[in-house]
Amino acid sequence: MSLFAAVEMAPRDPILGLNEQFAADPRPEKVNLGVGVYYDDDGKLPLLQCVRQAEARLMEKPAPRGYLPIDGMPAYDNAVKALVFGADSDVVQSSRVATVQALGGTGGLKIGADFLKKLNPAAKVLISDPSWENHRALFANAGFAVDTYAYYDAAARGVNVEGMLASLRAAAPGTIVVLHACCHNPTGYDLTPGQWDAVVAVVKERGLVPFLDMAYQGFGHGIAEDGAAVRKFVEAGLDVFVATSFSKSFSLYGERVGALSVVCASKDEAERVLSQLKIVVRTNYSNPPTHGAAVVATVLNTPELRALWEQELAGMRTRIKAMREQLVQGLKDAGVTQDMSFITRQIGMFSYSGLTKEQMQRLRSDFGVYGTDTGRMCVAALNSRNIGYVCRAIASVLR
Ligand code: PLP
Repeated sequence: MSLFAAVEMAPRDPILGLNEQFAADPRPEKVNLGVGVYYDDDGKLPLLQCVRQAEARLMEKPAPRGYLPIDGMPAYDNAVKALVFGADSDVVQSSRVATVQALGGTGGLKIGADFLKKLNPAAKVLISDPSWENHRALFANAGFAVDTYAYYDAAARGVNVEGMLASLRAAAPGTIVVLHACCHNPTGYDLTPGQWDAVVAVVKERGLVPFLDMAYQGFGHGIAEDGAAVRKFVEAGLDVFVATSFSKSFSLYGERVGALSVVCASKDEAERVLSQLKIVVRTNYSNPPTHGAAVVATVLNTPELRALWEQELAGMRTRIKAMREQLVQGLKDAGVTQDMSFITRQIGMFSYSGLTKEQMQRLRSDFGVYGTDTGRMCVAALNSRNIGYVCRAIASVLR
């Protein structure tokens, strides 16, 4: 009897399954809005100029590929701290942040989850309803019981803030609350600054543990604006976990560049926390890879490359906003009578379109327009060539 005879087939990842279906679709007019990836107006995955230039500089003086420290490249970790908290911030100046380089944002979440499980094994985790599909699985696999807090209000097309606050108020002290720092995936609806203040107050009052997932810094309103929620938690004096991803903001998906930062009460505490994060890294994959972090550190630490990155990131952000506006107008022009203006109130890569599962399935079967069954569409995959077709397809299924 084989060792693996009783192994069951795991369910397919819904998004990857959609990609496979898309690849097999022979229709030339097909459009993939299922992915969480930014494409340029030519429908191509961009290779940013700042990345090319950083790579050219790195190749001028090729470095040997020794092992990095367990917590990653120091120039990279420091650049992450400066970006997320501000180089002049009190927490950075007083060395109260423990930062480790991680394998993308996912890696940052996982290091934090494993550390938290050792710290408080009985804690519960709350994720938003709905959330990025990997949040639940990642925290559940780290051994936590995972529940949700209220978030999306389908009828109001926005965030159910009162419901969210009520969920948080009902949570036991020590509960880990996973929050989308900006550009909520999948809904596209973020909290306003005033609503963040209310969330911070409840988290503080109830003794909850905030874990901010920052996968889209710079894709919403701007680098500083998108980082504002993190700083609110820090200013409130809370110990906060922040998972950073550069997959989207540098278009470096495959390089796996991310980080985990933990804000502590003192320098001594940060040193002890860092030592524990390093154990998690060491016992999982020993130390992180060199290339992506070297590129990001070079860009963030070189003023002209940093300026170029900010410009290119602004270009991506502006293009997404333009696509949202064109989508609203295009739907109107295609005869949609419902008010679709909520699409421009959403932010980041995604739009919760409000379409039903049946309508999403018809979009796929009748038009080759692929979004998820939940009605999520990636606005960052729209472009001037496919948007008219997508609008006509959506108009047909809404009719
Ligand atoms: N968190 C959220 C909310 C995301 O949407 C994503 C990617 O889609 C991630 C984390 C993971 O990012 P990375 O690819 O850097 O692991």
